[in-house]
Amino acid sequence: MSLEVRVEHDLAGLNTLGLPCHAARFVAPSSEATLSEALSLAQQEGLAPLVLGGGSNVILPSRLSRLVIQPAMNAWRWLEQGDTPRIEVDAGVVWHELVMAMAGRGLWGIENLALIPGHCGAAPIQNIGAYGVELADVLEAVRVVSLQDGRAGWMSADECAFGYRDSLFKRELAGQFVITGLILRLSRRATPRLDYGDLAQRVSAAPTPLEVARAVCATRREKLPDPAVLGNAGSFFTNPVVPRAQADALRVSYPDMPQFPQPDGVKLAAGWLIDQCGLKGWRHGHFGVHDRQALVLVHHGGGTAAELLELAEMVARRVEQRFGVTLQREPRRIIDPG
Ligand SMILES: Cc1cc2nc3c(=O)[nH]c(=O)nc-3n(C[C@H](O)[C@H](O)[C@H](O)COP(=O)(O)OP(=O)(O)OC[C@H]3O[C@@H](n4cnc5c(N)ncnc54)[C@H](O)[C@@H]3O)c2cc1C
Repeated sequence: MSLEVRVEHDLAGLNTLGLPCHAARFVAPSSEATLSEALSLAQQEGLAPLVLGGGSNVILPSRLSRLVIQPAMNAWRWLEQGDTPRIEVDAGVVWHELVMAMAGRGLWGIENLALIPGHCGAAPIQNIGAYGVELADVLEAVRVVSLQDGRAGWMSADECAFGYRDSLFKRELAGQFVITGLILRLSRRATPRLDYGDLAQRVSAAPTPLEVARAVCATRREKLPDPAVLGNAGSFFTNPVVPRAQADALRVSYPDMPQFPQPDGVKLAAGWLIDQCGLKGWRHGHFGVHDRQALVLVHHGGGTAAELLELAEMVARRVEQRFGVTLQREPRRIIDPG
């Protein structure tokens, strides 16, 4: 099938923050062959390619003079059945739909990652995680196509250097590859992980993966605003990891501060820090801090990326002044090369 190219394409409905944005060119290749056509087009027209998934972790400018590529390969297949089945998943599959399809088949591994928005192709970028589980726990390999020369190949999970909300794709390899597929290894043996939040109270004594996935969905719906109703990008800041000595000093002044020891320091809860600054429900122009979850910045409509970033800076400054802790933004800011 040949490639359909859209001109001055409206991306407002393709990013969960609902930011206004027009892309000079937009394509949604449904195979690696049409992706290769898209890369040739980018070269011919001198437009830098930008890969977009479900738009749930990006801050878009009002115009992008780039070729936006949204991978639309959209299937998954068994590579191996048995006790620890392996599946290959295309980049355009909606992550939550994959979770429910696997949990519904009695397979364990990704049920705690239910209801994370976005497409499978973006899941390795920040090593999506929730409720004590992250993609790296089940990921075997990532299929990549070079944006420079169109060469395709597989990278092992080790080569992706996954960390907390981090991978090589966010750092050294940022903007160099399109991820077109993933290989995941799941399990038929019951391995529920229920030690985060109140998950254990929400399921039976011997839950199925589907029961756990549904409990995760219920918890998330209570805590997080639905982007279809109120624009947002989920957690706007990652939880900061600070040196042990700093965490100890903070605990003296703030005995209630949630702290989670890590191999490289102590993780603090960014939402708690923001809440303590009295910012929950705070509004700045068309944006605000969510009134139930301080970690989420919301778009009330009519705003732009610049205004959102202003709010984010104000929030981060208040946290820095009060706790001496620097917050890092989670969603990626996309810059227009002009
Ligand atoms: C309500 C809400 C809740 C959320 N909860 C969580 C959570 O619990 N845990 C968590 O980890 N995240 C969470 N997120 C963040 C987000 O859902 C994930 O980061 C998700 O993986 C982003 O997927 P996407 O397809 O929307 O990516 P996009 O936002 O479209 O893209 C994100 C980045 O990945 C790049 N990219 C996208 N697809 C590809 C590809 N195929 N190849 C190469 N690069 C690509 C883009 O260029 C961009 O830099 C949440 C977001 C929202 C809105």
